Amino acid sequence: MDNKKLAEMLFPDITETTQSIEARYPKRSLPEGAKVTRFAPSPTGFLHIGGLFAAFVAERAAHKSGGIFYLRIEDTDKKREVENGVTGIVNGLKQFGIRIDEGMMTETESIGDYGPYTQSQRRDIYRTYCKSLVERGLAYPCFCSAEELEEIRRKQEENKQNPGYYGEFAHCRSLSYEEIEKNINEGRPYVVRLKSPGSEDKRISFDDGIKGVIEMPENVQDIVLLKADGIPTYHFAHAVDDHLMGTTDVIRGDEWISSAPIHLQLFSLLGFKTPRYAHISPIMKEDTETGGKRKLSKRKDPEAAVTYYHEAGYPKEAVLEYLLTIANSNYEEWRAANPDASEDDFDFRLSNMSKAGALFDLLKLNDISKNYICRLSKEEVYRRILEWAESYDTDFAELLKSNRDYAIRIFGIERGNEKPRKDIAKWQDAVFYTKYFFFRPDEYEWQDNLSKEDMIEILRTYKTVYKADETGEEWFPKVREMAEKLGYAKAPKLYKKNPDDFKGHVGDVASVIRVAVTGRRNTPDLYEILQTLGYSEFSERIDKAIEILK
Ligand code: GLU
Repeated sequence: MDNKKLAEMLFPDITETTQSIEARYPKRSLPEGAKVTRFAPSPTGFLHIGGLFAAFVAERAAHKSGGIFYLRIEDTDKKREVENGVTGIVNGLKQFGIRIDEGMMTETESIGDYGPYTQSQRRDIYRTYCKSLVERGLAYPCFCSAEELEEIRRKQEENKQNPGYYGEFAHCRSLSYEEIEKNINEGRPYVVRLKSPGSEDKRISFDDGIKGVIEMPENVQDIVLLKADGIPTYHFAHAVDDHLMGTTDVIRGDEWISSAPIHLQLFSLLGFKTPRYAHISPIMKEDTETGGKRKLSKRKDPEAAVTYYHEAGYPKEAVLEYLLTIANSNYEEWRAANPDASEDDFDFRLSNMSKAGALFDLLKLNDISKNYICRLSKEEVYRRILEWAESYDTDFAELLKSNRDYAIRIFGIERGNEKPRKDIAKWQDAVFYTKYFFFRPDEYEWQDNLSKEDMIEILRTYKTVYKADETGEEWFPKVREMAEKLGYAKAPKLYKKNPDDFKGHVGDVASVIRVAVTGRRNTPDLYEILQTLGYSEFSERIDKAIEILK
């Protein structure tokens, strides 16, 4: 067969050569050891937390080495595409602090010299490489219909042979030039397949950056390179794109490990230098139904979507910090030793990634986030909550804007000291957290160990005791003094020893005041709350509570 002639028949419109394409994608000039990595999602608009994790790991690996992280859109599967699907992904990445150096930035715009960064715009590039493989006798058109492929599969199953299009089963491998020409003239659809030179008894191995050395049988399948519509398969596009775009480290989900033999073969046949691979395990979740573990699922778990974290208002710093704890097990120790350092300073390493799937733990994220938020200034907390509310809770945003100084004062309660309070894990929590400051309580979590009369007595008395200008030091001793006068123990210990001698203890008294003013039993420092509310609001709330108790 004259392969050159066949290539011309299949790709008459392709006049460019692979050499001239290569010339448009020169080697990047980067420092020694710099990694070029990428995130390569389909434009589904949906960013899975596992996708953010993979992108984050790839970005860190690139930036820690002085390299480049880019975003490539893999839209070869039109079924998966949605409108504005790129924007959804770009926003998700940006909102969580992933710094994209190159690639798609919006639906249509990109930056960088190694584009186009959207696969559907690279059609002729793939076809040029495919043509060169046909010329070299390494690829051929296959006209087998779905029924014929099904028939092959059935036979293989019957004879307990490996499934697929390979060796003796690769019927179209041996078509003559004339047969091909006839089929094409008849307008029969065809795909272009690789003529795999692999043999079943050979094995390949590669050193995975996360999983270590992996050994597998060589690829023998004549996999599809170009589909009937001329669009490449993932395998072929991966080899061509990652080569031209200069990817040094392919960091991707470990569902691709089984295809690695195909990829290594393609890189070799195309004369490309193979990238290093690092395969990430999926993020797992405790399965309450089975007691085991399963992948975080887009369908079952709302927390699988990155938008979930943005809507709830988790600060990006906390999410990144959490991702680091599941990425590198030595991160937490480092953080404990360097509480004030930027997480950017951590020596992130691919080789320290866990081989098994990390277990996703929302409680842990909440802890990390509370720790992060409690150290911010009240002004910063105000600014960021307002920013969140402007997108997700406009009523709350209005409230914050029209009460700016008051709101900042609220966020300043028990903040800026040695042991700041950790009430807020996500900006959304601020709605509940601040509620009683803006609205008088309409429900009261009264304790049940005191009678209504006792509570009314406490409130009436306290109204005469509390003064607008008292200091934090004066405040509690005054409550204690009043408690004693009304027949309560001045300390819980005292009460425990002789419960029959008292109506309760000072804690119960403070609790009645707290519930009267806030409706809640659990709040930050009561003195700070009273000071923030102001005297007249305090007084009116006490009156209202007494009315309700009556
Ligand atoms: N588009 C592929 C996916 O979403 C990319 C895999 C890769 O990173 O190479 O799974």
